[in-house]
Amino acid sequence: MSIDVAYAELGLRPGASEAEVRAAFRRLAARWHPDRNPSPEAVAWMQRINRAYDAIREAAFNDDFAAADADAASGADAASPARTLRRRLRLSIEEAAFGCTKTLRGRLTRSCAACGGYGRDRIDPRCGDCDGSGVIAGTAWFGWLSTKWTCPACKGHGTVARACAACDGSGETASAWRRTLRIPAGVRHADVLVAAGPPDADGRGELELEVEIEIAPHRLFEAGDDGSLRCEMPVDGFAWIANAWIEVPTLAGLQQMRLQRGRRVYRLRGQGLPLHRGATARGDFLVTVIPTFPDTLSKRQQSLLEQLAKSANGADADTPPSLRTWRKEVESWTRSRAARAPHG
Ligand SMILES: [Zn+2]
Ligand SMILES: [Zn+2]
Repeated sequence: MSIDVAYAELGLRPGASEAEVRAAFRRLAARWHPDRNPSPEAVAWMQRINRAYDAIREAAFNDDFAAADADAASGADAASPARTLRRRLRLSIEEAAFGCTKTLRGRLTRSCAACGGYGRDRIDPRCGDCDGSGVIAGTAWFGWLSTKWTCPACKGHGTVARACAACDGSGETASAWRRTLRIPAGVRHADVLVAAGPPDADGRGELELEVEIEIAPHRLFEAGDDGSLRCEMPVDGFAWIANAWIEVPTLAGLQQMRLQRGRRVYRLRGQGLPLHRGATARGDFLVTVIPTFPDTLSKRQQSLLEQLAKSANGADADTPPSLRTWRKEVESWTRSRAARAPHG
């Protein structure tokens, strides 16, 4: 039954609210339930109403697994019991890298098995007051006229509606579930893990739990899909020039690393993320340093830098080749300029 047809069966527009669906079902059931309605078509009507109600409930109102149920409803395949509970699970980069254990919790609302979602006992018990006849025989004042009254307890129906004890008349039962999952090392953002979910109380087996992994942004690291891990960090520019040792954060904690003057990117092999899910081999950790210098210098810093600058000007052997070439070019250009200049 298509979902739109199901709504129409209950006299509703498509997409009517859950409350409207329930109210329509109750109204129609009150009218067509065979216990109340002796007409020959009552049974068939009640079946149609139940089918429509079940179709809508399954497709629209079991919000924990709405998507999966929509599939099941359109496929109309009662023999395929697999129903899927979808969840997102947010992990830190560290949890994704090394694996972790997570407990998922939820509540499942199901159609009450005892009453089939009807909210009342399927068969209303016979009215005790009138013994199911709907009328009470009485004796009038004069003693010889026997009179029959409509039974006030059941209003003539002969049965007494009784709320289903299992669901307290709501037609639904809710139960809490909990699953502890072992997340393997090396999962990636948007990975989908499938596990056995909570049991399905409708007697259709076990639900499947589909967990989509979400990696939370990290304040220091960025994870690459290839197992690489990146970190961009400012470093003291003087330390950079001095080839100093610095501390870098890694997945295993702080670690010593030696800066190399002129070098921005450092590759720490095997210190990234597992190359793939379950792998012990790990990708590289790429550290990009951003040398930073103070805006203002102390007098002492200024004088030290001036000394440094002077020391570099003198010794030609220590001058970098590119600088040496540049200086030669400027020198020869100056000479040729002087030669061409008109002599005054
Ligand atoms: Zn009665
Ligand atoms: Zn029930």
